Amino acid sequence: MASTSYAVIDPTTGSPLIAVEQADVAQTDLAVEAAHRALDHWRRVSPADRGRLLRGFADAVGEAIEELAALEVSNAGHTIGNARWEAGNVADVLHYYAAAPERAFGRQIPVAGGVDITFQEPLGVVGVIVPWNFPMPIFGWGVAPALAAGNTVVVKPAELTPLTAVRIGQLASEAGIPDGVLTVLPGKGSVVGERLVTHPLVRKICFTGSTAVGTRLLATAAPQVKRVTLELGGKSANIIFADSDLEQAAASAPGAVFDNAGQDCCARSRILVQASVYDRFLELLEPAVAAVQVGDPGAQATDMGPLISAEHRDRVGGYVADDAVEVAFRGTAPDGAGFWYPPTVVLPHAASDRVWREEVFGPVVAVLPFDDEAEAVAMANDSELGLSGSIWTNDVGRALRVARAVEAGNLSVNSHASVRYSTPFGGYKQSGLGRELGPDALEAFSEIKNVFIATER
Ligand code: NAD
Repeated sequence: MASTSYAVIDPTTGSPLIAVEQADVAQTDLAVEAAHRALDHWRRVSPADRGRLLRGFADAVGEAIEELAALEVSNAGHTIGNARWEAGNVADVLHYYAAAPERAFGRQIPVAGGVDITFQEPLGVVGVIVPWNFPMPIFGWGVAPALAAGNTVVVKPAELTPLTAVRIGQLASEAGIPDGVLTVLPGKGSVVGERLVTHPLVRKICFTGSTAVGTRLLATAAPQVKRVTLELGGKSANIIFADSDLEQAAASAPGAVFDNAGQDCCARSRILVQASVYDRFLELLEPAVAAVQVGDPGAQATDMGPLISAEHRDRVGGYVADDAVEVAFRGTAPDGAGFWYPPTVVLPHAASDRVWREEVFGPVVAVLPFDDEAEAVAMANDSELGLSGSIWTNDVGRALRVARAVEAGNLSVNSHASVRYSTPFGGYKQSGLGRELGPDALEAFSEIKNVFIATER
């Protein structure tokens, strides 16, 4: 199959930005073989030098924050403030894992007749498959620990958003990361993505994307017992108890779901409000939603840009057009060119409604009341997804009880912060498999080898 080119669209205007070559299966094989050849050298680079190279790469990204942020504003419609944070996050994650090669300690385990030690060995070639919603951070979360652990990496960015990944790949090379150690290969999921999963020299796939593609990928990886990390969809609950600071809970709820136009796996897209404060909460929420500034993502004051594509906007709109859905109130959005959709608050009739159960992945939030703590936990857990969630209460005992009871990987109390490069991130149930970030991510990119040395013959 010959390679083809793909017109990358600016979602703010709907106009083509640039054509990007898409790799075919033969080019994917060449990239994997080059990554395999680079392994022997990269795994032998001394820990201190590997750390130095990663710090150089981190600095190169740090110096290019403005350039990368501008690219993401035009390719993905992210607000300039978010895009700067996202580029900075890549630099931070690289810095964090640059310290890891010199700290990849094994263990010495007491045994009879000798010395027993463990080593963390690289897996080999790692394929990192990235979605379109956070092209930069998710690139970094896979690539940084994989390289630190001595693996070589082939990254497949999403079809819609390859531009920052391609540029970060060039920065790696300019910073001295050797050829073949990190390759960025734009292409289709069904071509490049599939081939990374089936290629026998790729020992691990680090995938972030939809639960539908992730489950299929897991099955495709099974015959080779290929290691897989999956970061999949979310339908996270924002649980608001009557004893919370209701003003703060309402003021922060729009940001928790409309950030990145709701195209966020951690979006708190289900708001559960204790019945005794339900009406008051909606009264406070309405002006907070009206205040969300939707418009030119390059402008400093903008809170929310466009959706990624016309097709995605149709999909999001389909949830609101559903007969079962009552729109409580909406914010505003520009007319005309670009894939705009206003922040929208809906009141489902029941917890069985599609908009309450499925990941909309757009600026739509559904609100339902609950009576007591037990019902709040049961409603939050009544989902096959379990990525994030927030709990608003001023009772510390309740905060901890509910945080322990909600089946999700990342919970925040009186806050919506889910992601820090130094803490683990990942999902329960069908939201994923494995954890990224934090002190343990290296283990997901290493084999533990046990070696016994006899001291007695
Ligand atoms: P997607 O599953 O359509 O695509 C993700 C990536 O997989 C893309 O690069 C795509 O080209 C590739 N792909 C598609 N088919 C493939 C195949 N058969 N084999 C291998 N690769 C294939 O997801 P998307 O629409 O780009 O992203 C949105 C989804 O990602 C949402 O469900 C969101 O919740 C999820 N997400 C999860 C996290 C998390 O950390 N849990 C973070 C961000 C996004």
